[in-house]
Amino acid sequence: MMINSNSKKMPFIIAGPCSAESEEQLIETAKKISASGKVNMLRAGIWKPRTRPNAFEGVGSIGLPWLIEAGKQANLPVVTEIANAKHVELVLKAGIKHIWIGARTSVNPFAIQEIADSLKGSSIEVFVKNPINPDLNLWIGAIERLKNADIKDVHAIHRGFSSFKPNKYRNEPMWEIPIALKNEFPDIQLLCDPSHIGGKRDLIQSISQKALDLNYDGLMIETHRDPDKAWSDAEQQITPTELDVILANLVLRQEQNINKNLSSDLSTLRENIDKIDRDILTLLGNRMKIADEIGIYKKTNNITILQLNRWREIQQAQQSYGPEQGLSLKFIEKYLEALHQESIRHQTKIMND
Ligand code: PEP
Ligand code: MN
Repeated sequence: MMINSNSKKMPFIIAGPCSAESEEQLIETAKKISASGKVNMLRAGIWKPRTRPNAFEGVGSIGLPWLIEAGKQANLPVVTEIANAKHVELVLKAGIKHIWIGARTSVNPFAIQEIADSLKGSSIEVFVKNPINPDLNLWIGAIERLKNADIKDVHAIHRGFSSFKPNKYRNEPMWEIPIALKNEFPDIQLLCDPSHIGGKRDLIQSISQKALDLNYDGLMIETHRDPDKAWSDAEQQITPTELDVILANLVLRQEQNINKNLSSDLSTLRENIDKIDRDILTLLGNRMKIADEIGIYKKTNNITILQLNRWREIQQAQQSYGPEQGLSLKFIEKYLEALHQESIRHQTKIMND
């Protein structure tokens, strides 16, 4: 995958239908999405891992030559999903050079190891979607297994995490997980799949923009010549024309500001942030020292560590003060929980000393 290194970062765009349905569907879609010059790769699922049986499970290997032909006619490289060693064998035999591993496969270390073993010695590029459950280590593990099999080009695709009762999103984005992945593998190319995160067309623009604002390297967007009639994921697919509009509307930003004055302003602001971060930790340390003293008092007087009323009092006070400072209730809740756990950890240590 080649990332353009202009001052404004151009996202790498993968587009195409959720599923391959016929050769002419792929050719028509491919030609239309390539017209803008902004799409870098054509996607289509040949084998579809469906959550429930009896849903459309893909056309199968008959679709491989269709995809290759569509890529040729639109002058785009192609990518498809594989889930086992047999798929790998068929894809390699067909001469396909890019594959993705789906969310229902990256949860399974056995499947990933089988895929990694069967890819050994090939020069294929692999995009690894996050596992369906919010487990960063499974995602990391899948990438490591592929790297250990000497696959040079391993990239990541963030497609969100499933929940029992999806609300706004089909799959919760949980942006902190892909950010943590990037922390683990700073050089990995990270793409966002707003189609599977959102589950509906209307959300694609805003999710895509958010991903680019977080410095993602690209997007994978499901695009179909006639989305309402798509054989899978109809509600989240868009037409090639809608794709053009979304791509044209994206605000592209620079990773580093090259304007000198602006960048010195930025470093002043960053210095302020660094100082505040240190102050916050100092204050938290002081707070913990007081928690330790309370721990000693509780131990001497045989009082339980958890005093529910007191904890509720703290929560209420902070939940009314936090929003006045422009902080969301969700943040306050997470912050207090972390703080409380650290306090309990300190006091438990004191009790048991
Ligand atoms: C897909 O890309 O069509 C797909 C099945 O994705 P995921 O594995 O993210 O559900
Ligand atoms: Mn899909």
